[in-house]
Amino acid sequence: MAGPKITVGNAEIISLTDVEMQFPWATFFPNVPMHEMEKYRELYPESWGDIGFKTDAGCYAVRSEGKTILVDTGLGPGPHEFLRGATGNLIDDMKSKGVAPDDVDVVLHTHLHPDHVGWNMSGDAPTFPNARYYAPQADWDFFNSALAANPQMEQVVPLNEMGRLELYDGEITITSEVTTLATPGHTPGHCSVLVNSGGEKALIAGDLTHHPAQVDRPEWSPAFDLDAALASATRKKMMDGLVEEGHIAAFCHFPGEGFGRIVESNGKRVFQAL
Ligand SMILES: [Zn+2]
Repeated sequence: MAGPKITVGNAEIISLTDVEMQFPWATFFPNVPMHEMEKYRELYPESWGDIGFKTDAGCYAVRSEGKTILVDTGLGPGPHEFLRGATGNLIDDMKSKGVAPDDVDVVLHTHLHPDHVGWNMSGDAPTFPNARYYAPQADWDFFNSALAANPQMEQVVPLNEMGRLELYDGEITITSEVTTLATPGHTPGHCSVLVNSGGEKALIAGDLTHHPAQVDRPEWSPAFDLDAALASATRKKMMDGLVEEGHIAAFCHFPGEGFGRIVESNGKRVFQAL
């Protein structure tokens, strides 16, 4: 295993974990027949838990050109009722890997679901005191129009009121090595993050794909893909590119660090962890 840090040219990506999560299969993948999913169990045993789909609220820190960029902020401190009272551990995990909250210059959100914005605020203050926060405009518009149904926006709206939030659309440049890329479908504004340095590339895919079986079955959409048809089409396109180009990809919800490559083997597409 690669461990929690990889280099991409002159940049570094650090895998971070907030909290382990499990969901009953029928809740997460209501449209995927279980006997079909079972075919991938041997390949990805770590994605099977005792009550269903086992995953974690993962995020990444990128070090590039002297900047520290935190891609998503996990589910938050909790305790989380739907996880039998589990609590988030992101800040301790960051510190143990050499990333202090004060170091963070940019918080870059792939999208605004609850398991990606949870540590934005600590009480009335931003958890990352020196950071500017970036969120996709289309997600802001979508979730902000239904605040009662989206309590996670309590982690986002105050930042806007403080003038700390930048809304972005599609492709933006954070450093000359770190850019965003629109990968819509999971949410309207969902973006992935491309790290391109010294002739090497890595894609921090966000929630483009949740379970590694979807690498081979991009048409499988979880209940949380807001536009399943668009999410499937985006996933298919991105997987084609990753197979063809052989770049590293990092997936927030894949087991362990989530770093790997998509390869073809015996007519199947397989996520091969680094
Ligand atoms: Zn997620």
